[in-house]
Amino acid sequence: MKIITILGARPQFIKAAALSRVFRAYKDITEVIVHTGQHFDENMSDIFFEEMEIPKPNYFLDINSLNHGAMTGRMMEKIEEIIEKENPDYVLVYGDTNSTLAGAITAKKKHVKLVHVEAGLRSFNMNMPEEINRILTDRISDYLFCPTTQAKKNLLEEGFANFDCNIEVVGDVMEDAVRFYSEKAILTSNVLVENNLNEYVLCTIHRQENTDDLARLSQLINAINEINSSIQVVLPIHPRTRNIISKNNLKVNAKMIAPVGYLDMLNLTNNAKLVLTDSGGLQKEAFMLKKFCITLRNETEWVELIENEVNFLAGADTKKIVSLALNKLKTPFTCNKNLYGGGKASEKIVDYLLKAQK
Ligand code: UDP
Repeated sequence: MKIITILGARPQFIKAAALSRVFRAYKDITEVIVHTGQHFDENMSDIFFEEMEIPKPNYFLDINSLNHGAMTGRMMEKIEEIIEKENPDYVLVYGDTNSTLAGAITAKKKHVKLVHVEAGLRSFNMNMPEEINRILTDRISDYLFCPTTQAKKNLLEEGFANFDCNIEVVGDVMEDAVRFYSEKAILTSNVLVENNLNEYVLCTIHRQENTDDLARLSQLINAINEINSSIQVVLPIHPRTRNIISKNNLKVNAKMIAPVGYLDMLNLTNNAKLVLTDSGGLQKEAFMLKKFCITLRNETEWVELIENEVNFLAGADTKKIVSLALNKLKTPFTCNKNLYGGGKASEKIVDYLLKAQK
């Protein structure tokens, strides 16, 4: 069985690390990794591949820093050549980026079975490019592996029972990664010592709706500064966002550090008192590592976290963020539910594909 995996962004490296590990356990499976280069950023991409021991990509396309159309189009052109050359049984795509959509459309038009891992998620916000990418990818996928029962429900509500496709709830491959790499993180990460961290709140902001909207960004920074007067806030931040902050003379009192690798991030999350984020992945990691999370968005795809009152939507509302944060810092985290499958998603996906092959 030959699978082409398309990846290009940070959360996809993490998901691919978990699934690749299981692929490698089967001698009948050949995985060809295509790194589109979408979020290539010298050391960050390399760190992820090295520390998670993801096999070196078979193809690196180096397509980045372009508008949506140019980026997706150029990726499709290259992926088509690779599909023709490799003749795979499956093309596998993760999540909701332009690389996902480019891989999906190309595979489908070449009549190669398309596998979507992390299918069925919806924010119901059509202004998000990710929402467009995931809806279109889901619609043409042959195998839709959902991380949650809610994700499957979303698909059924859109009429997917009438389409010729297979939908399975397998759990979240990100939980596989958290479980597998947590031990390694504890053993190898020095991020706490290097940054002299003791009691702190972890915060990440990377979504365009927050970084590219000055009013929202200022409100978020006001909240961070206010929380930072009670407890240190640590902010791993992309140089691009740091530039926006300094160009606009915004004053951040929190401790800003460069973006970190996955193991450092797991260690930072595991030792934080609270997490504030607009990232999808980090919302779940916070839960898996038993931390409350305040989500700096108006909606989330991970609604089970909200229902279980371990995650709280605060948008960019300064007052709401601060009052939730101060409240959650005093509240013990007691939720023990298994919301994401318990770390078996990758095995289930591989089992399913092997059976489908027979
Ligand atoms: N992450 C990381 N280093 C950082 C910030 C985030 O390793 O400096 C990890 C984080 O733990 C999570 C993933 O990157 O697993 C989330 O990626 P991102 O926020 O880019 O995307 P999203 O989850 O919103 O799709």
